[in-house]
Amino acid sequence: MHDLFTQKTTIKPHGRIGQLRTRAGIVSTPTFMPDGTRGAVKSLTPQQVIETGVEVVLANTYHLHLNPGEETIKELGGLHSFANRSGPMLTDSGGFQVFSLGKHTKVSEQGVEFTDPKNGDKHFLTPEKSMQIQLDLGADMIVAFDHLIGLDSTTDDEVRDAFDRTHRWLRRCITEFKKLTKDMIGPEDKHYGTNVPNQRPLLFGVVQGGLDLNLRKESLRIIQESDVDGIAIGGLSVGETREEMTTVLEELAPLYDEARPRFLLGVGTPEDLKFAVENGIDMLDCVLPTRNARHGVVWGKNSEKVHLTNEKYKEDPSVIEEGCDCYACKEGFSRAFIRHQFKSGEPLAGTLASIHNLRHMVRLCEQYKGKNKT
Ligand SMILES: [Zn+2]
Repeated sequence: MHDLFTQKTTIKPHGRIGQLRTRAGIVSTPTFMPDGTRGAVKSLTPQQVIETGVEVVLANTYHLHLNPGEETIKELGGLHSFANRSGPMLTDSGGFQVFSLGKHTKVSEQGVEFTDPKNGDKHFLTPEKSMQIQLDLGADMIVAFDHLIGLDSTTDDEVRDAFDRTHRWLRRCITEFKKLTKDMIGPEDKHYGTNVPNQRPLLFGVVQGGLDLNLRKESLRIIQESDVDGIAIGGLSVGETREEMTTVLEELAPLYDEARPRFLLGVGTPEDLKFAVENGIDMLDCVLPTRNARHGVVWGKNSEKVHLTNEKYKEDPSVIEEGCDCYACKEGFSRAFIRHQFKSGEPLAGTLASIHNLRHMVRLCEQYKGKNKT
């Protein structure tokens, strides 16, 4: 591999600061990636997202497959062109949303059959189909299709079964990915990441195993022995306690392959971000910062939660977070004004709060980079 990931310095006890080479540009890590579910971060323009310092935007394969469909997006030049975003993009496998449908899904060795809850249409997602959809969408980083299960309502046998299937499906994903990208330039080429045409995206394999630490370590070993570019940690933040999640991350931290980026799926409170970064995670995504923001919940000083719609902010002239350099705080929008926008149902409220929350997450990542600058 040709320096896909370059480690600059370390973060104690097991973290690091580095650079990831993607075909859409270099990503400085650690990095927080907001969810642009349908191709865009809700209530923000691509330019507003860039101004928060966000470097990668994640889009959801499940939602884009159902509507408008990958064929349409491919015809319109792929996600970047369709969504008017030039920086790196990542798509998930679609698995998380499909498995979240619960009783509307039927898992077989071949794949997952599910019913679109909106119109009752039946769909079938397989490892091969997920690869094909993600390549058609045109993201720069894509994720293998895994068997995800909730942690709170599953037996050991179910965890083991999903664990084994995840690795069988990974092999099928890799085979299909190689077939579909065989004529494309990969990261082993020294020109990868520069302006050369026809570069393939990076593929991430997903570590599963529930809360069983031995299964987790075994899964990591299998993924790291596979021909994937990056390591994704899945199946966390799905109903377990915080301590259970941190135990898994701590256990895996010393075992990661240094040459590959590590992506923690779906974890995104400030507290969890710091823990994950200090335990070896380079990339994180979550809907939480923007979803909270649209509901009036923002992070203030020391990441304390501020419920902007609360009566006590009615006459509060202060900005969301003193010292924050986001557009909303820097321009002096008061809590009282943003509260008023929320109370009046004005979309500007969600926009200003989303800008702040994203910048807050990005600043947490930047603090490590600043602290460790030499
Ligand atoms: Zn701010």
